[in-house]
Amino acid sequence: MTTRISHWIDGRDTAGTSGRTGPVYNPATGEQSGEVDFASAAEVDAAVTSAKQAAAEWRQSSLSKRAAVLFAFRELLHQHTDEIAKVITSEHGKVLSDAAGEVARGLENVEFATGVPQLLKGDFSEQASTGIDVYSIRQPLGVVAGITPFNFPAMVPLWMCANAIACGNAFVLKPSEKDPSASLVLARLWKEAGLPDGVFTVVQGDKEAVDALLDHEDIAAISFVGSTPIARSIYERGTANGKRVQALGGAKNHALVLPDADIDMAADSIVGAAYGAAGERCMALSVTVAVGDVGDKLVDAVAARLPKLKVGSGADPDTDMGPLITQQHRDKVAGYIAQGADAGAAVVVDGREAEVPSDGFFLGTTLLDHVKPEMTVYTDEIFGPVLSVVRVETYEEGLELINSNPFANGTAIFTRDGGAARQFQFDVHVGMVGINVPIPVPVAYYSFGGWKASLFGDTHMYGPEGVNFYTRGKVVTSRWPDPATSSIDLGFPRTR
Ligand code: NAD
Repeated sequence: MTTRISHWIDGRDTAGTSGRTGPVYNPATGEQSGEVDFASAAEVDAAVTSAKQAAAEWRQSSLSKRAAVLFAFRELLHQHTDEIAKVITSEHGKVLSDAAGEVARGLENVEFATGVPQLLKGDFSEQASTGIDVYSIRQPLGVVAGITPFNFPAMVPLWMCANAIACGNAFVLKPSEKDPSASLVLARLWKEAGLPDGVFTVVQGDKEAVDALLDHEDIAAISFVGSTPIARSIYERGTANGKRVQALGGAKNHALVLPDADIDMAADSIVGAAYGAAGERCMALSVTVAVGDVGDKLVDAVAARLPKLKVGSGADPDTDMGPLITQQHRDKVAGYIAQGADAGAAVVVDGREAEVPSDGFFLGTTLLDHVKPEMTVYTDEIFGPVLSVVRVETYEEGLELINSNPFANGTAIFTRDGGAARQFQFDVHVGMVGINVPIPVPVAYYSFGGWKASLFGDTHMYGPEGVNFYTRGKVVTSRWPDPATSSIDLGFPRTR
């Protein structure tokens, strides 16, 4: 039996009426577990109308009231972490501990947003000119929308909605149609936390719902996270319609391993970052650039670790790596391994030959060595458990390779040399840099964002930049009549 997965409009589950739906699978069994409604433009319009009314009231609520709702939501998320993790694992496939980690990283953004009274403080200049004061305030935009990818069905919505709502906006979420259920748990918990109906809305769907949001005149801003071609088109259409847009795209994250690196530390880090969540992370390491003579040692160390990774259902606590999101994606990733082999890469470990459960969308771990920059396994974002090793002679050659890549989300350097690491952080054209840290996702009080084809727009997501994105600045210049000139005697001295 499949579960019907609907929208959340005006504070309640709302069945779709468009007649269009899509299948949702349990990737560990390959069976269809749900059927998700796809919103039409008319349903999106109804959702935005409800959100607009709610936004008008919510922006009047005091900062302390908003902070209280966020504190309550934080507690509920914390209490319901296991429940949310189970929902994520059942539709995404990642292991339960990773799903719980996703909730924890999302929760950090709620904790950050509880500081909204502090975050929205403006500046004040007394006596900017004689008798004139100048001050700045930040005000909400109204209704803002978030369009999110399948790979973090709880964390990425939380990157967006915590700040958007704290800043006094209503937030409309269009989750991925591949794993839509986590969004509804978030909706229920927001309501339980005391958020007024309509301030958090979920419209399920595909391109039709997204286009309706991009074209809707009452949506002031769009936050998007997903693949680069879609990010680019969302940015173009949204900005053409006069909206603020931040659109985060795909990635091809490189680790640069210098000859002096601690090999065990680097190999442990690289294995976790390349194969965790089956490589379906925008900050996954998919290329290791081995400098000088480090290549053989590193490839051996990574290869030695791979047989120890247990591939299986994410719901099994012994599993290290779960399935891919769909059969189609699994086959696409397997196709890349074939292309790499045909192009001359050395297939050190072949995920197609791994012993994996026969049902479900499983693929083992793959390690490709001697990959060249012109091979498709290097040029394309694979988004699966495939690690390519490119060998270079020098630091400069490795740096040049990273800087010429069109993607620029995250990168990491492995070295014991502080000066080399410092030089790398200065030289590299990438938005997030790890120094002996493989997945440098910033904590919630910094902001997250790549460069180049990994981000369209000029504002990174969450943290201080998120607060700016979801608010408009206003500057007030004020002068008051001198109280000494008042016709009513206020008791002021006549001269001062
Ligand atoms: P995707 O681009 O296919 O989908 C993202 C969202 O866009 C979904 O909600 C989807 O329904 C919608 N969408 C898909 N096609 C559309 C279209 N033609 N028009 C309008 N909307 C459309 O991405 P995905 O497969 O869900 O997620 C994986 C991708 O997301 C990877 O490329 C990954 O690198 C990227 N990602 C990036 C970040 C980041 O922070 N930069 C974070 C997570 C994921």
